[in-house]
Amino acid sequence: MPWNDKFECMPVEELNKFQLKKLKETVAWVCERVPFYKQKLKKLGVTADSIKTLADASKLPFTVKNDLRDNYPFGLCAVPLKEVMRVHASSGTTGKPITGPYTIEDLEQWAECMARNLWSAGVRKGDIAQNAYGYGLFTGGLGFHQGANLLGCTVIPTSSGLTERQVMLMKDLGTTVLFSTPSYALTIAEQAEAMKIDFKKLPLRVGVFGAEPWTVAMRKEIEERLGIKAMEAFGLTELGGPGTAFDCEAQDGLHINEDHFLAEVVDPATLEPLPIGEQGELVLTSLQRRAMPMLRYRTKDITKLRREKCSCGRTLIKMNKITGRSDDMLIISGVNVFPSQIESLLLDIEEVEPQYMLIVRKKGYLDQLIVKVEAKKEAYEAGPQKRKDVENKIVKHIKSIMGVTVDVNLLEPKLLTRSEGKAKRVIDERPKN
Ligand code: ADP
Ligand code: ZN
Repeated sequence: MPWNDKFECMPVEELNKFQLKKLKETVAWVCERVPFYKQKLKKLGVTADSIKTLADASKLPFTVKNDLRDNYPFGLCAVPLKEVMRVHASSGTTGKPITGPYTIEDLEQWAECMARNLWSAGVRKGDIAQNAYGYGLFTGGLGFHQGANLLGCTVIPTSSGLTERQVMLMKDLGTTVLFSTPSYALTIAEQAEAMKIDFKKLPLRVGVFGAEPWTVAMRKEIEERLGIKAMEAFGLTELGGPGTAFDCEAQDGLHINEDHFLAEVVDPATLEPLPIGEQGELVLTSLQRRAMPMLRYRTKDITKLRREKCSCGRTLIKMNKITGRSDDMLIISGVNVFPSQIESLLLDIEEVEPQYMLIVRKKGYLDQLIVKVEAKKEAYEAGPQKRKDVENKIVKHIKSIMGVTVDVNLLEPKLLTRSEGKAKRVIDERPKN
């Protein structure tokens, strides 16, 4: 039974009706309160009354990250600041961050969406949940915290970092559930190995991982290494943080909290909506948010939607695991390459660790992709010939599956910096023009 079977298992027709009602309300809400949307809607000649079916969402304007930057900090806020109970911000690695204001209702909805996510992952009252997502402006920490609170489990707010202490607490407090990015889960696993602590002997049972792309191969690696079930969370600051979509016991795609988010997939080049089942850019419209509703937010995340009967009983539409963002896509000698494709091929090779870095350079007129990956200790210590053989094996494997020639650099174990949050795995050294 899901956390909220009324909405998670609602017959699709009824759910769509509910979405339509909420979509019209949202359009009316922003049209009245947010000058940015008011002008855009006026220009397009669209009002809440123009929305007669869900497909009419395609009449609405898109919103992109730059719109949030341009309207920093509160230009897109639809309520007076005194109604805002909290403000989060995205990591904003470049330039100004984008802000996410929440009313009390927004915070409640967010906790509800996260509770569904955690419940679906098998988290229950009585669980001891160690939350190693960063607390602070980042939505991960408090997002998981509130969801876990709603379920009534014990939360240990370790935040990210201080990995040795994470492992110690995990052991001493009997942590049963871990929340973190997938890359940080691996860092924690390595630290435990270094401390000679066998994860499989600890009560840890399940992890809920998200905030960055990770492949199915990586999920299996984490499940084996930590001896747990690795479940998933998906979300973004612009739509209120984690809680947008989550996987279920079928571990085959993520259910979108459709009563809160209307999902579309569009062709990233033409921006035309694509039929369900076709791959493209995920576009999300919030349906119940108050402080900062989003119309057709272009996530840049590449996926496809699936409307199908799921063995878990949920009727919520599913999206495929995100394999990458359109802005992460590399074009190497004319071939489109997602870092995640390289990740999953590297994980096929038994002599390497799941720790890698991709470097893109210009070599004459061509792009060159350098794959740096750590060797397992035994492989590394087997000498230069063995290392060369492993490098060649990886080059061949990538060439045979993807058709691109890469340079592989096998590294000494533990050479790469370990991730404590979102892993940075691509360095693009090509000159910007
Ligand atoms: P920032 O944009 O600063 O990185 P966010 O935390 O808002 O901050 O990042 C949201 C993005 O993180 C999503 O658009 C997506 O690219 C990525 N993301 C979040 N969860 C997942 C997931 N489960 N799988 C793949 N990517 C994810
Ligand atoms: Zn399901």
